[in-house]
Parts: sequence; structure tokens; C-alpha cells
Amino acid sequence: MMELASYVSGRWVSGKGRATTLVNPATEEALATASTEGVDFGAALAFARERGGVALRAMSFRQRGEMLRAMSRAIHARRDELLALAIANGGNTRSDAKFDVDGATGTLAAYADLAQELGDTHVLVDGDGVQLGRSARLFGQHVYVPREGVAVHVNAFNFPAWGLGEKAACALLAGVPVVAKPASATALVTHRIAQILVGERILPEGALSLVCGSAGDLLDHLGGQDVLAFTGSSATAALLRSGRAFTHASAHVNVEADSLNAAVLGPDVDDGSEVMNLFVGDIVRDMTQKTGQKCTAIRRVYVPAGKVEAVLERLGERLAGVKVGDPSREDVGMGPVATRQQLEDVRAGIARLQAGARTVCGGPGAVDALGVGTKGYFVAPTLLRSSEPRPDDAAHQHEVFGPVATVVPYDGAAATAAKLVAWGGGGLVSSVYSDDKDFVRDAVLGIAPHSGRVTIGSSKVAAQAIPPGTVMPQLLHGGPGRAGGGEELGARRGMALYMQRVALQGDRALVEAIAGKR
Ligand code: NAP
Repeated sequence: MMELASYVSGRWVSGKGRATTLVNPATEEALATASTEGVDFGAALAFARERGGVALRAMSFRQRGEMLRAMSRAIHARRDELLALAIANGGNTRSDAKFDVDGATGTLAAYADLAQELGDTHVLVDGDGVQLGRSARLFGQHVYVPREGVAVHVNAFNFPAWGLGEKAACALLAGVPVVAKPASATALVTHRIAQILVGERILPEGALSLVCGSAGDLLDHLGGQDVLAFTGSSATAALLRSGRAFTHASAHVNVEADSLNAAVLGPDVDDGSEVMNLFVGDIVRDMTQKTGQKCTAIRRVYVPAGKVEAVLERLGERLAGVKVGDPSREDVGMGPVATRQQLEDVRAGIARLQAGARTVCGGPGAVDALGVGTKGYFVAPTLLRSSEPRPDDAAHQHEVFGPVATVVPYDGAAATAAKLVAWGGGGLVSSVYSDDKDFVRDAVLGIAPHSGRVTIGSSKVAAQAIPPGTVMPQLLHGGPGRAGGGEELGARRGMALYMQRVALQGDRALVEAIAGKR
């Protein structure tokens, strides 16, 4: 069986001893193993800092952008091969796999474009400068410079391509070398991308390392110039945050964790309208795309009480048409969840939701999946309906990371909708569907303190709307509270994690020369 090696200190290294086995979640066939036992992570990080960091900092933003463009093109050139791996190892349909792989190439390309705007400079200017003294000569200016450390990127299992691309784009453009650590269970796609990028010598030596398998003591070697960007469960995040590197050495950390994303239907939206179609379409897409294993997927659906039955009917019809089965088949609309553990967690989560809600369709039971017999980690799209929402309902407390959503009635007031959304404890994205300006403003401003992003679905943009579950490189990804309190992407905002913001004060000509303004 294939052994996934790690790429550290400029070479491919296989771990010895205890390994994780990667499987095809539709067939349960073993595909590869990954182990990091015996890998010297201290040396790997030192190599990345000393070789990769120095080489990257010597490059201007424009040059780093050319590197990102080359990475994007190299990944795109092997698109079909990568899609096949995502289908085999991730339980992805071809469309799910494209969402991941094209998301990686698109995000790298977007940051390559941003690099062109930043040009042949090395320092990122932060806002306007200020006059500090009696004359215009004494001047202050904030700038960002690259940290002299390494960026460790620990990712979740659901986006092995995009997770690598979106984090690496920000760090590499900032001038910081990357050590990517994909979730072991679905590391095949990330491993192949790293092989492609290393094979084509697109990055300077030490600028990109890969850890395939357990993180071991990797994070214990981080110091005050280093960064951890983590995506995964809040339980793992809490554990990692308590590490000495963060509590004592002030290594920087960004967390993207769980999220009970909400969709709110306005009281003005009629059945059959364009906005209702958008609302229903977004919910069905989020429940089934990547089998609901998207951190941004809609989990809670708030509907004015008088419209609940119509919404349930529309959703029920659409979900009944989703064929669950072998994701390599063209007629299949939803594949399995990624791992046996995921299957157990999703089933237990549905049972937990059912304690406070009625099941409209689906449930935790076995699924007769197309084309695979009795094997595989399949779960049915599951819609629940809560009748009297309370803050301690499982729907407001527990993220079920699968094809599951709960419809919750509310009284149609924007303030009530905002209160219900806030019960989720902080999320990545919420969406409001309405053409009523007052409702939209009050709902959005009420939801905003509890969300990283709010999308507004209205008839004016229905034809070109980007679904709330799609993360855009131009806009922030992250959210407060339960979602981890982090921020990624958002164009140059995503680079800030990897850079030190420093205030310069002195003679305006000197300060502006350092900032690259003259
Ligand atoms: P997870 O179990 O927390 O694992 C996430 C990553 O952490 C994996 O790479 C895992 O490696 C690693 N890890 C686990 N224990 C570690 C330790 N002690 N030291 C260092 N690394 C460690 O999460 P998951 O099951 O992969 O992902 C599902 C969760 O991620 C869901 O809760 C979902 O909401 C969240 N998520 C959030 C976002 C977001 O952007 N907010 C995006 C996607 C997913 P191994 O695989 O080797 O154990």
C-alpha cells in the first residue's frame, strides 16, 4: 500500500511505526498509510525558518505573487488527477471535488492578483500616516513586516486542497514559509499537491513543507515569531491553545472552529418568489454539498411561523431528489461522510437533535446507497423541525458536521431573528433573505456582532448571488465565539496574521522611504 511521506528539511521522509490508514469512505477500501513517527520536527521548523523564510523575505510582493500564480497553474494542470483522488479519499462527488480543488487554484490566483497591486515592495502600509509634531516633518506611519518565523497550517479533513491553498496564499505572500499539516484521514490530495509543487520547483527551498500523519510534538517547537493557523474542531483548538508555545512563548494563533451557521427568511418573502427559490436552493446546496461537511454550511433555518409548512414542503421535495451513493457515479448527488468516526459522530448528533425536534426527512439510520452495497459511511440528508426554540436546544449548541439542518419558526421580527442567531454562540456566516430594507438592516446589524460574514439574498442579486457557504478570498473567513475568534482571507487582511504591525515615527521622508511610499 502507498505510504504518504512528509516533506521536511528539503526531502521526503517516511515515518516509522504507528500509522493512520486512509480509506475510500464509499467502499472502505484502504488506500494509503501516513506516519510521522521519528520525524524531527524541530529540525524541520528550523530549516523552514532559515532557508524558506530568508528566501521569501528577499522576494518582493510581486515576485511572491508570481510564485502563487505558478502554484495555481501547476495545481490546475493536474486538476483531473486531483479530482479523482478527492473522489476516492474524500467521498466527494466530482462537483464537491471541484469546489475544493478549484477553490485552491482560485484563491492562489486571487492572491497573485493582489500581489501585482502591492508591486515591487517588501513592506505593507497600514492606513494613512499622521502628522505628530508641530510641523509636517514629524510623522507616524503603521506598516506590516513579515514575521521571521514559520507558519504551521493544521487543517480539517474536509478541504484538503482549498485548506492548503487559502492559508498558504496569505502566508507566502506575506513572506513566511509554510508547514502544512492536513488532517491525516484525507491527506491524499494535499500530499499529491505538495508532490506537484516540489517536483516543479516552484517555491524556494524550505518555503513549503508537508506533514502527513500525526502532528506529534510539532507545535512544541513554535516560538514568538511563529504562527499556528488551525482549522478543526473547537475541542482540538482548546487543547492546542493551551500549549506552552502559546501560553508562554506568545506564538501567534488563529482558530477556525465549529459554527452553527444560520439562514433567516424575511416575513415579506412569498412562496414561489425568486428570493424563496434562492433561500431553498442555498439550504439544499449546503446540506448536500460535500455531504454537509462544510464549516460554512447552514445548520439552522429561521422561518416566520406562517411560512414554515411551505418551506418544509419545498425542502422536503428537493432533498427527496438527492441520490446518495458512490460519489464516482455521475447520477449520484451526495457521497458518504469522510470517515467512520464522522459517521458515528453524525449519527449521534442527529439523535441529539431529534431529542428537541421532529424529523421531517432522513435520520441516523442506515442508507441504501447507490452502487456500493452495504459498505461505506453513508447518511441520509436529514431535515428537522423544532417547534419551541430554546437557547439550550441541541440545534443551538451542537454542530452536526454532516447533511443536517433544523428549521425553527420565529415571529417574523428582525430582533427575534437576531436573538435566535446569537444563541449559536458565534458563527462563520449567516444569511438573510428579504427585499424589505428595514427588516434586512435590523436583522443584519443584529446578527453582525455574532458573525464573521453576513450574506443578503434579495431579488436584485438573486440571479448572481454567491451562496453563503462559498468562502471568497476577497472577504473575511472566520467568526467570533464558537467559530474560534479567527480571521482568514479578506484580501490583504489575511496577511496580517503572518506579519508584525509596527508603528514608525520620525522624519516623514525617512519613514515614507522605509514604508516604500517614496
Ligand atoms: P479535528 O479532529 O479537530 O482535526 C483537525 C486537525 O487537527 C487535523 O489535521 C488533526 O490531525 C489535527 N490535530 C488533532 N489533534 C491534534 C493535536 N493534538 N496536535 C496537533 N494537531 C492535531 O477536526 P476535523 O474532524 O478534521 O474537522 C471537523 C471540524 O472542523 C468540524 O468541527 C468543523 O466545524 C471544523 N471546521 C472548521 C472550519 C472553519 O473554517 N471554521 C473549516 C472546516 C472544518 P489528524 O487528522 O492527524 O488527527
